[in-house]
Amino acid sequence: MASERPFAEIAGAGLAGLAVAAALAQHGWRVRVHEKSRELREIGAGIYLFQNALDALREINVYDKVAASGVRSSQPRLLLDHRHREVNIRRAGEALPELVVVLRTELHRILAEKAIENGVEIVTNSLALAADPEGRLEFEQGFGPKADLCIGADGVFSRVRDSLRLGLSVVDLRDGCGRHLVPRRSDDRVNERRVEMWNRGRRIGIAPASKDQHYVFLCCPESDYQARMQQPFNLEAWLESHPQYGSYLQRLPRHPQEYWRPFFNVTCSAWSRGRVAIVGDAAHGMAPNIGQGACVAIVNAVVLARLLARSRDIPSALQAWERHERPYVDMTQRVSYLYGVIGTRWPAGLVGLRSRVLPLLARTDLWQRRLRVALDHKPAI
Ligand SMILES: Cc1cc2nc3c(=O)[nH]c(=O)nc-3n(C[C@H](O)[C@H](O)[C@H](O)COP(=O)(O)OP(=O)(O)OC[C@H]3O[C@@H](n4cnc5c(N)ncnc54)[C@H](O)[C@@H]3O)c2cc1C
Repeated sequence: MASERPFAEIAGAGLAGLAVAAALAQHGWRVRVHEKSRELREIGAGIYLFQNALDALREINVYDKVAASGVRSSQPRLLLDHRHREVNIRRAGEALPELVVVLRTELHRILAEKAIENGVEIVTNSLALAADPEGRLEFEQGFGPKADLCIGADGVFSRVRDSLRLGLSVVDLRDGCGRHLVPRRSDDRVNERRVEMWNRGRRIGIAPASKDQHYVFLCCPESDYQARMQQPFNLEAWLESHPQYGSYLQRLPRHPQEYWRPFFNVTCSAWSRGRVAIVGDAAHGMAPNIGQGACVAIVNAVVLARLLARSRDIPSALQAWERHERPYVDMTQRVSYLYGVIGTRWPAGLVGLRSRVLPLLARTDLWQRRLRVALDHKPAI
């Protein structure tokens, strides 16, 4: 009987909310997602999806569509320093993780379509104000129906998390980046190998993300006002630090759609209370320096659905989920932060030293283990 199916209410239709909705519905849940915006949308930029997320996308049967829409990276990234010299941070014989770079709008659309195909109801223009641990979301017009499970997938500034007093801190990391798409040309060198180049605290990364677009990210410290100016885009500032990439930078519109986004670290006392869980940036927002924020959110979503398919004691299942998933996510957040300290907040006068120290550090077992912690995590559930 339909009424016997467990029911989940989710706040937020970003990548995390849609992934968990699709996964729960696949396991027989009745799911409703509330999105505060008037329509479902993602920003016009690219996103790196590493093998951990790709495996999770396979599990919810969207891998083929995502892989067909994006661009598979078969070469290691080329990392260059301020003198345009390669900084070799790879160990000989090291296996390359599977990586697909895709447009965010495409990934979001594919997840939304899968959720709807699995029977998920998506309500737009529906702002969740809070949640009660018994399993109800609160809206302006009052509490919604009692659900077996509520999920806050409502981003870094999660109201669901804060209403349950689960948030310990949301720290502005004082760096960030602008993300853009530029037209792709057949003779572009990044078609063969994606690139990242560091000069002082500025980092430019370029990777093909679709048949006809490259994803360009431009990271810098918050204090570098010239570099973070996006409206209008300060072409001259980036040409000064990264003249080798002038051909790509000049393809950016003078007034890009995207603005400069600061990075935040979110820390919580717990990922759930009672029948309410928080997923994605609401639970573990992190600097995107190693391209794992959404990847771990997608993995967590799939693991949560798997676990709930086996257990009807929802509060206990949520705690077990956190015990399994949180240690590696916390480590991923720390490594991503450290990468930003080295790449963006390293003292400007010591960048020569950085080019010498980084390859030594990066080839140590400890660094490799930590950098790969999300890639190597095999959920034991
Ligand atoms: C510059 C940059 C580059 C990145 N690159 C990568 C990368 O390459 N790889 C990677 O894995 N990760 C990357 N990330 C991280 C990734 O983008 C995020 O981890 C991911 O998008 C988080 O998804 P989310 O659904 O948790 O949150 P969000 O994307 O913030 O989605 C939250 C959704 O909830 C809605 N909402 C908010 N509040 C409410 C409410 N109260 N009620 C109802 N709806 C609500 C919002 O409108 C939104 O739709 C990057 C992040 C940044 C900033």
